[in-house]
Amino acid sequence: MKIKQFFSQTSHLAPISFKYCPHCGKPLQHQKCPACDYKQYFNPAPTVTVLVCKDGKLLIGKRKNEPQKWAIPGGFISYDECFLETVHREAFEETGLQLALRGICNVMTSHVSPLVQTLVITVLCDVIGGQETPSDDLTELKWIRSYDEATDIAFKTDDYLICAYFDNKLPLFPIDERFIRHR
Ligand SMILES: [Zn+2]
Repeated sequence: MKIKQFFSQTSHLAPISFKYCPHCGKPLQHQKCPACDYKQYFNPAPTVTVLVCKDGKLLIGKRKNEPQKWAIPGGFISYDECFLETVHREAFEETGLQLALRGICNVMTSHVSPLVQTLVITVLCDVIGGQETPSDDLTELKWIRSYDEATDIAFKTDDYLICAYFDNKLPLFPIDERFIRHR
């Protein structure tokens, strides 16, 4: 049985190794530094994707960086951050909106490029305040009412999520109520 929530934007699926130690500069041997014991691991980078909802509509934004297409707001989880804080931070930075989190609705693996594989945690949210303003990585915001309005989407994971959202196919795993609103 093969059940996978795996999306790939690239045909190159093997990880790319450093040639030199990023700490001390010595040549790596089998991904390991003989001088300082650094070892390169090939792990996905965890990210959050934020489904911002209002009256059944979904918010998407035009990306400032390549690929300059439409995407669901979100981003990488910082080292000192809980992933639910990332949801509030990324949504506020990119859209100016304040959110109440409704639940976790999906976790997927996404191979974005030969250098980046992400683990995408998707959280469904309602708007509770703020001033709608595209900023940070987004240059434009757009509310869509159906999957048909989602054209020119940058990532396969986002395309899948938008389709599942309008099909009412996303389950909701509840979030600890202490983290629903940003403090
Ligand atoms: Zn080293």
